[in-house]
Amino acid sequence: MSDLKLATNALHAGHDVTANGGTRAVPIYQTSSYVFNNSDHAANLFSLKELGFIYTRLNNPTNQILQDRLAAVEGGIGAVVFASGTAAISTGLLTLLKAGDHIVASSSLYGGTYNLLNVTLPRLGITTTFVDASNPDNFKDAVQDNTRAFFVESLGNPKLDVLDLEAIAAHSKAAEVPFIVDNTVATPALLNPIKHGANIVIHSLTKYIGGQGTSLGGAIIDAGTFNWANGKFPEFTEPSAGYHGLVYHDALGAASYTFKLILEGLRDFGGAMSPTNAFNIIQGLETLPVRIKQHSANALELAKWLEAQDEIAWVNYPGLESSKYKALADKYLPKGQSGIVTFGHKGGYDAAKKIADNTKLFSLLANIGDTKSLIIHPGSTTHQQLDEAQQASAGVSGDLIRLSVGIEDIEDLKADLLEAFKTI
Ligand SMILES: *Cc1c(COP(=O)(O)O)cnc(C)c1O
Repeated sequence: MSDLKLATNALHAGHDVTANGGTRAVPIYQTSSYVFNNSDHAANLFSLKELGFIYTRLNNPTNQILQDRLAAVEGGIGAVVFASGTAAISTGLLTLLKAGDHIVASSSLYGGTYNLLNVTLPRLGITTTFVDASNPDNFKDAVQDNTRAFFVESLGNPKLDVLDLEAIAAHSKAAEVPFIVDNTVATPALLNPIKHGANIVIHSLTKYIGGQGTSLGGAIIDAGTFNWANGKFPEFTEPSAGYHGLVYHDALGAASYTFKLILEGLRDFGGAMSPTNAFNIIQGLETLPVRIKQHSANALELAKWLEAQDEIAWVNYPGLESSKYKALADKYLPKGQSGIVTFGHKGGYDAAKKIADNTKLFSLLANIGDTKSLIIHPGSTTHQQLDEAQQASAGVSGDLIRLSVGIEDIEDLKADLLEAFKTI
């Protein structure tokens, strides 16, 4: 189905109607385990001589449809879903890396990811150099002998920096390490990082893809383009003690990483997605191409309107003429720049908190990508644990207000913000 266009794949890919009892909607296979034909059949499944379902921690028919659909919309050869975006990131990195390895990452990252790389992974001997991603050469300069991955967000949250993916991909290729791109904010409906050189794409499905704020989920999409036999990844080319001597690269070739995520990542770390959440996220994915257009249109109009308000000090949205990322947005996000807008009020930190406390349509909460509009003051909430220098490199100033602009009527959203401004 992958020759079809994105909006068609978002609705159809991965779902064989005939094989699924004629169901027009994707069914929820709410089961933990699967009956084997006999012990030989079970033995073949466990030894990968035959592919099939064993246990839902490893795979499930509803999850498989979501996986195939995500691979189709991102242009990968396979995908694996997880309980959350965070489970996807941590399992994805731990499946790839070991003590002594090193990551080069953009300093403009989702707060949870920053903490994983900055605090938790170093405890396991995996270190990260954070670089200013606005200069792609910084990635090259940070490469060490033990570097084993580059990690970025295509559209940083909440800095909203659009990265020059092709320039960074060229450096990762030269360093012979996989280029991992978190594409959560941009979504596959606006940007496909694989087309620009990414080897691995990660999503928090909790955000725009699920879209309705109902279910957590995460995914890794494997482009199938990385050469795991380049000498830097012996776990792919030497017999795996954890899988009765399987040599991933010999047995599975381009699909080695996808299978390693299932056979080791999900088996050993267990961050599996529930089939009901897969169903909910499939409902969202089906309308993503339509919704993201409205999110983008509303966000652009609101950003322009905010720029015209006297009490507003600055507005950041990659689609604005005033944005320093406008040229990169024109190249990488020509169909729209998604729904996140940040701005500062002249009243600073206190005004920011007060605005977040006084909107009625914009809900004060720590999420993005819901159909409903959301607001937060990162300085006092999501980014409070970072010191001032870390906040600055993550693009968070004390006066910054983050909006996740929903698909309500734009006039109602403007009126809601105006009322909140009046409280200052
Ligand atoms: C929310 C988010 C995550 C984490 O995903 P969860 O589903 O909340 O675990 C990772 N990256 C980005 C860019 C996010 O916005």
